[in-house]
Amino acid sequence: MSKFWSPFVKELVPYVPGEQPKLTKLVKLNTNENPYGPSPKALAAMQVELSDNLRLYPDPNSDLLKQAVARYYGIDAGKVFLGNGSDEVLAHIFHALFQHDSPLLFPDISYSFYPVYCGLYGIKFDAVPLDEQFQIRAADYARPNGGIIFPNPNAPTGCVLALDAVEQILKASPDSVVVVDEAYVDFGGETAISLVDRYPNLLVTQTLSKSRSLAGLRVGLAVGHPDLIEALERVKNSFNSYPLDRLAIVGAAAAFDDREYFEKTCRWVIDSRNKVVAQLEGKGFEVLPSAANFIFARHPRHDAAGLAAKLREQGVIVRHFKQARIDQFLRISIGTAEQNQALIDGLGEL
Ligand SMILES: *Cc1c(COP(=O)(O)O)cnc(C)c1O
Repeated sequence: MSKFWSPFVKELVPYVPGEQPKLTKLVKLNTNENPYGPSPKALAAMQVELSDNLRLYPDPNSDLLKQAVARYYGIDAGKVFLGNGSDEVLAHIFHALFQHDSPLLFPDISYSFYPVYCGLYGIKFDAVPLDEQFQIRAADYARPNGGIIFPNPNAPTGCVLALDAVEQILKASPDSVVVVDEAYVDFGGETAISLVDRYPNLLVTQTLSKSRSLAGLRVGLAVGHPDLIEALERVKNSFNSYPLDRLAIVGAAAAFDDREYFEKTCRWVIDSRNKVVAQLEGKGFEVLPSAANFIFARHPRHDAAGLAAKLREQGVIVRHFKQARIDQFLRISIGTAEQNQALIDGLGEL
């Protein structure tokens, strides 16, 4: 702490990202990265852009990418907002749309960045408990609120909420913004973007970090009514006019245009997930039903922190959260066939 700090900084509790180890030999199943690498077309587009052009500022509106997203979803580009990772998009959403008198609602077990943004922007919140099966119950959100946000599929559980339940939440709170954080939707969920035209209070966020394997490029997006998008653009243009650099704009646009590679690699991840689930269940794990590129599992007879430490000794890192209700679970990202085998081998006989 220092006398030079603005007062509010003393109270800030920052987000703690999953470890990015310097040791490259480790099998990294802790931050839900995609094991298959980005579209070769995205890499080629960035190679071309890697030129003398970098002396020029990028397009502040990233129109090329907005149009690629609009094309992909068959929507108007005026409904698309872009940011430096969906974490930045979420930050602008909390800032621009969630600062109200009533509390923001989100699940008690959810993306741990949400309470951090509440701290940063001084937003009151109520954590709504998941049910006994770790599912979101739509009816629990039908109460006064200053906004609602939840991941779908949820993180770190991987469980998906059906679109009619999402619609039930939207209908019950027509006067607040409902944000569906679809970071993992391409691995088994159904996007709520199809509801945007009917619900002016709906905002859907997505990222290129997971299903399009571009975590290192930092690109995220939101889709919603132009009035919501305008609020985000105002905050963005009061903060950083150029959140996406030239490489990110062309690389992300090419990734959206390359449907074939995207669909193929998502299929590979889903097939691997089904195999890993079966293997873990064979070892006695209870695995929550996952529609994501990770699974959330616990063993009735083995302590989760102990298992994580044991795996780490074998060179496999997974994520363990020291949080009430879920401290006996491990969150395990789906890797390549070899990485998944290292996980199974690392667990050994239980
Ligand atoms: C990974 C993740 C994000 C953030 O993704 P970035 O675009 O890499 O910032 C947002 N929400 C959830 C639930 C995530 O798991």
